[in-house]
Amino acid sequence: MTFLFEDIDAVIADEVRERRPDNWDPTCLHVTDLSACPRQVVLRAQGSPMRPLAAKDINMFDLANYQHERVYAALRRRGELVGCEEELPDLPAIGNGFRGWTGRLDYIRRLPNGQMRIGDIKTSHPNWIQYNKDGNGYPKPEHVMQVSTYWHYWHYRDDLDPMVEVVYLDRGGQNPSHPTVFEPLPLGYIRERMAEYEEWLSSDELPPLLPSGVKWGQKWSPTTGKIMFGPEGWQCRYCRVENCPNERQDHWIATYTKKRGLELYDMARHFEREIVDFLWAETKTQFTITPGMYKKGA
Ligand code: SF4
Repeated sequence: MTFLFEDIDAVIADEVRERRPDNWDPTCLHVTDLSACPRQVVLRAQGSPMRPLAAKDINMFDLANYQHERVYAALRRRGELVGCEEELPDLPAIGNGFRGWTGRLDYIRRLPNGQMRIGDIKTSHPNWIQYNKDGNGYPKPEHVMQVSTYWHYWHYRDDLDPMVEVVYLDRGGQNPSHPTVFEPLPLGYIRERMAEYEEWLSSDELPPLLPSGVKWGQKWSPTTGKIMFGPEGWQCRYCRVENCPNERQDHWIATYTKKRGLELYDMARHFEREIVDFLWAETKTQFTITPGMYKKGA
């Protein structure tokens, strides 16, 4: 058999890089940073070298952008789209030689009552969409923070709807989408969070490493037997700053139990004591971890 491409992901990623050059400014603070690791944000803003994006991540972002365009087109067709990919010009400045906060909301749509609602689109792993529906169905806290900030800093406030929305789309298209509508967080809460980052930027010290430990991801369900959990500090998995000496940057666990029993993925061996303690505390079930369980599907 002859393979046309040795690495089709890389071939596609090259085309994406050309079509959509990366113009993200690492020296700004972005609204999405408000829920990120403060250490990561400060290191990046100070000019830390960054690992390049992997081809698979470039492709994932490209698919996500495509999903965004589909939503905008659908809203436009219905005559509801007021604006999309809108920059927020009134976000606060920072000073100390750093550029200010920046952000760009996904869309504003006109509701049947004439009011304008700010919304954000998130494309998710199919499993997450399903877990979220099975669970409490709430939007993720970081997305609540993000879209609430857009709401407070959108300069054109006439006829602005008091609610905001986050729509979750299955990146793979297997599950129905999951829309959520909620009240924005108070501005004071958002400003406090912004002030934390601004203080770190004017300090000589770096923010601490993210903590270790296992925490809830989704609730245990006695009927489906589903439980999902991961380490605090899960952001280390996606972190691209090169000069943070945190072993969790390279060791990530994505672990969950399903009807068919316990599966521990990849790096569970690094954290097995934490996981076993966690499972015992939450389920009162005695688990034994054996090396064969570290592999997906074992
Ligand atoms: S490796 Fe983890 S602790 Fe270090 S900067 Fe990145 S996210 Fe933060």
